[in-house]
Amino acid sequence: MQPLCSVNAPVGVNDERLDGFVRLVGRYFDAAVMLVFSVGSARRIWASPGLGDELLAQIIEADDGAANDGSHHLFGMRPRVTWPLLAQAGDRLGTLYLLGEQPRELDAHQRDALKDFATLALDLLTQIRQRQEIAELRDSERRMALAIDGSGTGIWDRDISTGEIHYSSTWKALLGYADHEIGNRIEESYTRVHPADLDYVRATIQAHLDQHTDAYEVEHRLRCRDGQYKWVCSRGKVVERDRHGKPLRMIGTTTDITAMRRLSEQVQQTAALMTDLTNEIPGIVFQFRLQADGSFAFTYVSAGAQAICGLSALQLMQDAQALTAIVHPDDRAAFIDSFQLSAVQLTPWHLEFRVQVPGRDIAWCQGEACPRREEDGSVIWHGFMTDVTARKQIEAELQAFATTDFLTQLANRRHFMRQLEAELARLQRNPEQSAAILMFDLDYFKAINDRWGHNVGDQALRHFAAILCSQLRKSDTAGRLGGEEFAVVLSEANLDKAMHFATRIQNELAKAPIVHADERIYLAVSVGISSLNASDASVEAALSRSDIALYCAKRGGRNRIEHH
Ligand code: GH3
Ligand code: MG
Ligand code: MG
Repeated sequence: MQPLCSVNAPVGVNDERLDGFVRLVGRYFDAAVMLVFSVGSARRIWASPGLGDELLAQIIEADDGAANDGSHHLFGMRPRVTWPLLAQAGDRLGTLYLLGEQPRELDAHQRDALKDFATLALDLLTQIRQRQEIAELRDSERRMALAIDGSGTGIWDRDISTGEIHYSSTWKALLGYADHEIGNRIEESYTRVHPADLDYVRATIQAHLDQHTDAYEVEHRLRCRDGQYKWVCSRGKVVERDRHGKPLRMIGTTTDITAMRRLSEQVQQTAALMTDLTNEIPGIVFQFRLQADGSFAFTYVSAGAQAICGLSALQLMQDAQALTAIVHPDDRAAFIDSFQLSAVQLTPWHLEFRVQVPGRDIAWCQGEACPRREEDGSVIWHGFMTDVTARKQIEAELQAFATTDFLTQLANRRHFMRQLEAELARLQRNPEQSAAILMFDLDYFKAINDRWGHNVGDQALRHFAAILCSQLRKSDTAGRLGGEEFAVVLSEANLDKAMHFATRIQNELAKAPIVHADERIYLAVSVGISSLNASDASVEAALSRSDIALYCAKRGGRNRIEHH
């Protein structure tokens, strides 16, 4: 009798012994017999001859969900005995059916016999199921091996007790060998490992054999058939040990990682080049990110941070506020605002600001960066900051050079005129206020030069400048217009105040002669005053009024004060 497949897909089990079993039970009970065996959702059926497929299917369908108690069950016109075959755990492995034309009651003897038959069937079915499971496991192992092999990873299987190792074709192909070109002794396999890697590879494998690791993974070089070395990643695991823990069998994989290593080396080299470049540039190369939620951070800072900020690159990356904290208090608001503006308008960030590192002099920093908006709404800047303290110092010196009279250190004519213009602009904004312009010309100065020499003349000029300065308020400006001619602009001063100021200067000058070779040289000065008003069309017009007043003072006999 052939096993009959019905209802569901067959599971591919064919066992002569079960055919014999069905024949034996049929003969014993003088009934048709059907044995159904379930494996998962698949079923196998062995039945007495003459039972149609349709009938068998109907019986099974009606029986699904029936109680597992062997109770009598009616089906159509064919009563039968249903005997579940239960595994020890209680699972129903299958069912034994006695089929017949008439209802059937079993006596005690027959029930015992049926029980014995059931036990026998169960044994047979359990054996079949185990064989089936092993076959399925092998299948799945084979599929897995094929899949791994197909992915370019070679596989190997090592018998530790015999010292043999078997490689898949892919494994051999990985190193350029044909199937027959490679031996299966473990000693030979170690000869292909790069000498520089051998100790490490052996130690890693040994640690696993000694059960110090669950599995092992090691990157090393293997020699190919053509003598070249390839980088591989070897992974392995002991899958069988004896009862003392001695390893018997180990399986594993070998993956070619040469291309990956090359790529990773290239990436490392590129990264190292970038870091070297940015670190060697004097100044800070940075990447800064402002998130949509307002939080911000340096995502990259070069090593130059230490020299400029006294902070390591890491410190700045961990805390961007650390930079804000050392920006000079007078520049801090501008520093923060400039970044905000650059973020909003996406315009390049450019700023000169001072940093005050504890224990160091104030340094000037110049920052440049370009913003870019990212898809997530954040803004990212790439830029640099450099120390421009030296340049700032030169600029300051040049500025002083360009605005200061070398001899007296007062404002030179050009700078004085600028200050005068600024004062006029201020008055035009505040028309109710006034200022005074005073012009001073030393009396008979030529005579000092002539009598005591040019150096003494210079000394006299410096002396007068010092007296002027000593009487100035912060808001006033004094300048040397040329030769022995000086001017002062007194902010927020009327003519009265200006007269007082001029008188004080004359008095101070009279009180303090210059001393040369034990000789006292007394100086005198004539002063012309006029007021500067919001209505003045130009500073030159106002200055010329003071000049006219000065001329009057000279003509009036010198050492006098006149106003326009
Ligand atoms: P007055 O009372 O009319 O102002 O007569 P004064 O001699 O002061 O005027 P004057 O314009 O005749 O002469 C000014 C002199 O100042 C002429 C010039 O040699 C001298 N002088 C101009 N610049 C300097 C300078 O930088 N150093 C010295 N020592 N003398 C200067
Ligand atoms: Mg003069
Ligand atoms: Mg003079």
